[in-house]
Amino acid sequence: MQRIAVVGAGPSGIFAVNGLLARDDVLVDVIDRSPTPFGLVRYGVAPDHLKIKSVERKFTQTMVDPRVSFHGNVEVGRDVSLAELRASYAAIVLATGAARSRRLGIPGDDLPGHIPAGQFVDWYNSRPGASRPAGIPARRVAVIGAGNVALDSARVLLKAGTGLAHTDVTDEVLAVLDRRPTNELTMVIRRGAADTKFSPAELLDLDKLEGVDILVDPEDLKLIAEEEARAGEDRFAAARVRIFRKWSATPATGAPKVLRFRFREAPVRILGDDRVEALELSGERGVSRLPVDTVVSAIGYNGERIDGAPFDDRRGRIVNDRGRVAPGIYTVGWAKRGPSGVIGSNKSCAAETVALLLEDLPSIPVAVGLRGIAPLLHARGRRVVDWRGWTAIDAAETAVGASKGRLRTKIADHDRLVEIALGRTLAPTLKETES
Ligand code: NAP
Repeated sequence: MQRIAVVGAGPSGIFAVNGLLARDDVLVDVIDRSPTPFGLVRYGVAPDHLKIKSVERKFTQTMVDPRVSFHGNVEVGRDVSLAELRASYAAIVLATGAARSRRLGIPGDDLPGHIPAGQFVDWYNSRPGASRPAGIPARRVAVIGAGNVALDSARVLLKAGTGLAHTDVTDEVLAVLDRRPTNELTMVIRRGAADTKFSPAELLDLDKLEGVDILVDPEDLKLIAEEEARAGEDRFAAARVRIFRKWSATPATGAPKVLRFRFREAPVRILGDDRVEALELSGERGVSRLPVDTVVSAIGYNGERIDGAPFDDRRGRIVNDRGRVAPGIYTVGWAKRGPSGVIGSNKSCAAETVALLLEDLPSIPVAVGLRGIAPLLHARGRRVVDWRGWTAIDAAETAVGASKGRLRTKIADHDRLVEIALGRTLAPTLKETES
């Protein structure tokens, strides 16, 4: 028997666990700094994407395998070092994702009212420790970026409180978004329509927004030769162009809200005295000024450095070869390949890493005992949340949700999550179920 640690209980980590369980001679400890599992599915996927979130059921099947132990509320680098993990496990898989928003790096990007998407996503998804970003709620918003996170941010803002009422967001998030619903949102895209990174299905989903006119200037859709070629050979690029053309040919209905796409314009400056007042753009039509209350930049993410693992700052990921960092240390998911692909992409990514790990395993000296880090954490007095603890949190959140006719209402407070998991607070308080 060999004991392996997987650091990160998000999609890539759990796909790796699933791959490891194909062997009957391994035990797996899954460590996560959050007291809750599922990483990006819980704290990244937009709340209205209930179908995507339902993958949690499959992940649960993996995590409840008797050979798997969950150690939540344990942060590598704070509660235990990578060196200590190396001394306690035959192998370690780093599945730590990419949680840091890329910075715009233009003048004014430090003004209150400019929000890196990660901050916005953390807040609407109630990640413990996240607070409401300055600039939310907002009437007029520019969203910079042409990826799916930009679409999530736009959708959440345009749905305001009411369109999210059936989801797992907290009442505070609903109330704030409802207070000043966004009625004018501009997507600022530095390339042409074919070269955006939106998934066509996600893009088309915007058609379901109620009370929103989607505006695209037909002039913006005149593709340059290279784009034309790409749309000819890439069916996703072709689908995106088709969707934008459809919108450009649809007249505005006078709906209360407007979602506008602007192409081939790059943000050059955020303007304002003590908060965001406008975004300056530069493109083929010259320099223009877009008056807005808030700018959300959804321009990608970077991974976080873990002490003891080599890190490529430029690419924002752990240095690795197909997932192997060094014999005994491996990586999967966004920590391995950078922030790309959808949740399912992590399955083949994890399979590649696990294959290398299992290839190396016979030559890795058997680790010190099979007890993993549980005794060490216990000796340090860490309040470790195990799977049973998570089921207590799950039950509490679903109870609060049920009292409001929803599947779940998240609990945003870290200490409260831990207290519930450790059985110090037995049930949601009356106040929570009544509010
Ligand atoms: P992304 O797909 O890499 O998109 C980032 C966008 O930001 C690109 O359009 C990029 O343009 C633009 N950008 C980068 N730097 C910029 C700058 N300085 N100024 C203006 N624009 C800039 O990243 P993401 O949206 O964060 O998504 C990350 C991953 O998660 C993606 O694989 C995405 O598909 C996935 N995801 C999936 C879903 C879903 O399936 N529902 C939801 C959310 C996220 P260039 O192309 O010109 O660099």
